[in-house]
Amino acid sequence: MAQQNVKLALIDLSGTLHVDDQPTEGAVDALKRLRQHGVKVKFVTNTTKESVGSLFARLRKIGFELEREEIYGSLAAAAEYVRKNKLNPYYLLTDDARTDMPPDDPTRPKDSVVVGLAPERFCYEHLNEAFRVLRQKSDNSNVQLVAIHEGRYYKAKDGIALGPGCFVKGLEYSTGVSAVCIGKPNEYFFRSALPDGVAVEDCVMIGDDPIDDCQGAMRVGMKGYLVETGKYQPEMYTEENRPAVSGIFATFGDVVQHIIANGQ
Ligand SMILES: [Mg+2]
Repeated sequence: MAQQNVKLALIDLSGTLHVDDQPTEGAVDALKRLRQHGVKVKFVTNTTKESVGSLFARLRKIGFELEREEIYGSLAAAAEYVRKNKLNPYYLLTDDARTDMPPDDPTRPKDSVVVGLAPERFCYEHLNEAFRVLRQKSDNSNVQLVAIHEGRYYKAKDGIALGPGCFVKGLEYSTGVSAVCIGKPNEYFFRSALPDGVAVEDCVMIGDDPIDDCQGAMRVGMKGYLVETGKYQPEMYTEENRPAVSGIFATFGDVVQHIIANGQ
């Protein structure tokens, strides 16, 4: 029996365990096997399109066994950031995601912009409003552009789809304000996802994004395992330029198999 090293697996959701309302192949059973093997799990997600409550309900509905408290999202981390810094932001978020954030303060002008994945908000009218909030305060060092994450693209039901990153970069370009990035691959995000007493070397990160999931986690000392489901596009890689990660596996189930067989 291999020595048990891994104590905690940080697991990405979209593209790794599911794509929209479809679990990835074998993921529901593989998650059960990982738990039975004694590995604790935490679901770390940059998903900003829906609130934690909606995400939790959806994952349960498609067959995953999990507790709401096991989901650690960049949306919650961003809400904490807004509270701590006493910001009164203009939000480029979906209505659902907005419910996870602090309420507006109508007595104060907007002093910041918070951007998540919000397809219905990414039109000229709303982006221009965000631009004006950032520009009108450009003489004020307190103005903040908060990117919940800067994802380039993600996997949707009908193919790959544009992430919020290019809208964040566009606002940076036009306003000269540099964004504060909250979610993966930010080091702070990975460290704050760990419960007390768990060391980074006892953790692995499993995800479908080589940069935001795997390399982000590897920078803080975890192993980063890439799955070839979700946004993975084999045609983007050759044998020579495959992503520099700790391991590449066809599915989440294959990573679980590897952890059970090798302990890490
Ligand atoms: Mg993903």
